[in-house]
Parts: sequence; structure tokens; C-alpha cells
Amino acid sequence: MIVMKFGGTSVGGREAIERTIGIVRSKLEEKPIVVVSAMSKVTDMLYAISDSLEKGDREGAQAALGKLRKKHLDAAAELMPDDHLWREEAFCRINAVCDGMQRFIAEVAEIGPAQKAVIDSKGEFLSSNMICCKMNSIGIKTSFVNARDFMVTDSDYLKGAPVYDEIVRRAPKVIDAAFSEADAVITQGFVGITSEGEETVLGRGGSDFSASIIGMAVDAARIEIWTDVDGVRSADPRKVDNTLCIPKISFEEAAEMAASGAKVLHPKTIEPALLKNIPVLVLNSMNPSGHGTTIVPSSYIEDGVRSVSSKENILLVCVSLPVISDASSLLTRVLAVLSETKVDIDLLRVGPDGIVFTSASLDRVPSAVVKLSTFADVEVEDDKAQISVIGKNISELRLALRDASELVKESRLVTVAQNDSYVNISFVVPRARMHDAVRQIHSYLFEK
Ligand code: ADP
Ligand code: ASP
Ligand code: MG
Repeated sequence: MIVMKFGGTSVGGREAIERTIGIVRSKLEEKPIVVVSAMSKVTDMLYAISDSLEKGDREGAQAALGKLRKKHLDAAAELMPDDHLWREEAFCRINAVCDGMQRFIAEVAEIGPAQKAVIDSKGEFLSSNMICCKMNSIGIKTSFVNARDFMVTDSDYLKGAPVYDEIVRRAPKVIDAAFSEADAVITQGFVGITSEGEETVLGRGGSDFSASIIGMAVDAARIEIWTDVDGVRSADPRKVDNTLCIPKISFEEAAEMAASGAKVLHPKTIEPALLKNIPVLVLNSMNPSGHGTTIVPSSYIEDGVRSVSSKENILLVCVSLPVISDASSLLTRVLAVLSETKVDIDLLRVGPDGIVFTSASLDRVPSAVVKLSTFADVEVEDDKAQISVIGKNISELRLALRDASELVKESRLVTVAQNDSYVNISFVVPRARMHDAVRQIHSYLFEK
């Protein structure tokens, strides 16, 4: 079995969907489990529906749902103009999902994370049902699997953490049964369910993570992440010119890149694949014959710099004690508060002046600050961005980077990830200067 995940742009309309199905068709003998995202922009529309409801605007929410229904009915009609049976089947399924949402919007009494997860997850059900019908209509026997039959998470509704044991127990049975009567299986990325049966989602961009979890659970031979760029690149091609494709990268480097803001992979994508050493490929559905990027164990990778990533809009938090005291006990207390308030930390430095860390958990930091302030002085600086240079054994680059950019010299927080092979040198810059700094550093490292 192989897992093939297709992101929003790869299922964004008739042309993209037909190209995607062509790619799947070429691999049927490998038993593809196709994991799809919502059509591009659809999850944004669903978040907007949740926001309207939060503001009490039920009418606005129903109007937006009407647009969403039409978008999918139109897409299905365009995809299956001559196949009356499968087109009607697709219409039925799309209407069933939208009717359910319509009732939910009409009846929901209050809107919090649990209710938002119900709404936000529907894009993947719409796209997967529609594509399943199209695949069958052109003779690819495809089974539809509801990912909520196996993708068990905790009850962090909008950022569910997978419960691996439970998923590994359930997924192979569900997927094997689906293959017993089909050549391909299609399921949804992004969605999850608690063990009590409440709907969850895995967080923005979570379909990559779903694909990797499924690959791990069924011992897939390979996990293919099909997106809209030629593999993992030396920087975000939307922000930097002249980026290079990285043909091979280690699991550790890819994980660092993803965690440091490279949107091409969800930050947690590598974790499940690595548990079983399953190769992950990043490929371009608009250019299927390209080689893309293969993610492999570190021993296959040479020393050297791989990429520059950035994270926009992070907070820099400085925690110190009024009187000098034991830094390690301060660290223990700070980490306990951050874990309790579910604040993700990106960079952390413990120094004589206290503890400095960065976080992109903008909504959760304020409650952590309230708790930290009961025993320490806390200063929060917003409008910061974080830049990370990633590669194998690149710690010596730290000084060279200071020549590349004045901003690196000025940065208040520079960290070098301390593990076997130094893979991440990060620093914090003012948000407004981020793009320039990334370009300067990219040009210094890659455009000689
Ligand atoms: P999908 O919908 O397929 O999941 P995403 O938009 O989530 O696609 O991710 C692909 C995008 O990631 C690319 O279009 C690109 O702009 C962005 N990106 C950011 N950093 C990188 C990088 N280092 N290499 C490649 N793409 C990157
Ligand atoms: N549709 C979800 C999102 O837009 C998940 C994904 O695309 O990976 O965040
Ligand atoms: Mg994505």
C-alpha cells in the first residue's frame, strides 16, 4: 500500500482533479490510499462560517453555506458531464453534507471549539465524496472511507493530537476491508474524532499529518505528499526568487523546516513516518514527472545547508525573577505553566538574565503570561518574526550568518538546536524586516 495525499490546489477544480486522478491511476497496482484536502479556499470559507456564527450572524453563515454547496455542485457537474448516474450520486452526497450543515447552523446554540470542529471539517467530506464518484465514473473502483472510523484524537477540538495506539488498532481493519472490493481507497485528511465520538480537526494544514499517520498505521511502503511546487525548496518560492529544489533531505531536517514555518509540510508530518522509517516524498501534482524531494534517514544525507524558513507573527516572551535565583528551577516552573496552558514554544534560551522564548500560539500566550506573572517578571514583545537556517552539521555557519545580515547581529535571540547533527540556527527579527532578511540570507547561502 502507498499513501498519496493531495492538497487543496491539487483538488481545486476540474483540471486539477483530473490530473490528480491520472496520477492515482498510474499507481493502482501499489494499492493507493488517497488522502484529500478540501478544495482550495474551502476551509477558509468554513472558518468564516464559524466566525459568522460566533458573531451571532446565522443568516450570513447560511448564505456562505449556499455558496459552498453551489461551488461543489458546479464542480461535480463539470467533472461528470456525461455520466448521469455518478453525477447524481455526487450531487446526493454533496447535498447530504450541506443539509447536515444547514441544520447544524440553524440549531447550534453556542459556538466554541467543539462546534467549530464540526463545521471546519466538512470541506474534506465534500471533496472526498465528489472525487470518489469521479474515480468510479471513469472505471477506477474506489472505496470511500470515513477517516473518523479510525483517526482518534484527544479532545483539543481544533488541534487534535492523534492517539496512535487506537489508530493503529482501527485503521488497518477499516482500510483492508475497503480494499477487498476496490482498487483504490479515498479518505479525508485533517479530520479526527475523540474516543467519545466528538468531531475534531488536526489544525490548519493537517492533511499532511493525516497522510503520515495513516501511512504509519498501515505500514505503507511510501507516503507521497502531492502539492503545487516541485518538492521542498531552499526557501518559500512565493517569498524568495531563485529557490532551489532539494532532491534529498533527512527526516530531521524536514521536521525542523516544517516546525520552523515551511508551509509545504504540516509541522508534525514527519513524526509518524519516522516511527516506522517510511520514506516521504514531496511531489508536484502540476508536474508529475518531476523528481520532487525524497525524505530519508540522515545517514544518506551529506553535511550542508538545506534551506531558510520563516515564521511570521510570533511573540517573544522574556521571563525573569526580581532577584537572581536558580535558573533551572525557574525553567521547570515556566515549562510547567506553558504545558498547562498548551503554549507551543519554538525557540528557548536560558541565560543569566532569565528565560527567553518565542511562540506562535498567539491566542494561548496571554493566559500563560497571567500565570507566569504570579511568580516572575514577564515582558512580551509582539510583531516579531523568526528565521531559521536548516541543514546538517551547520553550527559553524552561525558566525558567517552575522556577515550575511545586520539583523542577525542585532537579534536578541539566537539559538542553535543542540542535537547529534546541528540542524537549526534560528533568530528573531522585527516582523517588518522579515522578508528582506530571508532574501539576504538566502542569497548569501544559495546564490553565490
Ligand atoms: P497543499 O495545499 O498542497 O497542502 P500548501 O499551500 O499547504 O499546499 O503548501 C505548499 C506551499 O508551501 C507552496 O506553494 C509554497 O508556497 C509553500 N512553501 C513554503 N516553504 C516552502 C519550501 N521551503 N519549499 C516548498 N514550498 C514551500
Ligand atoms: N483543509 C485543511 C486546511 O486548509 C487541511 C489541509 O489542507 O491540509 O487547513
Ligand atoms: Mg498544506
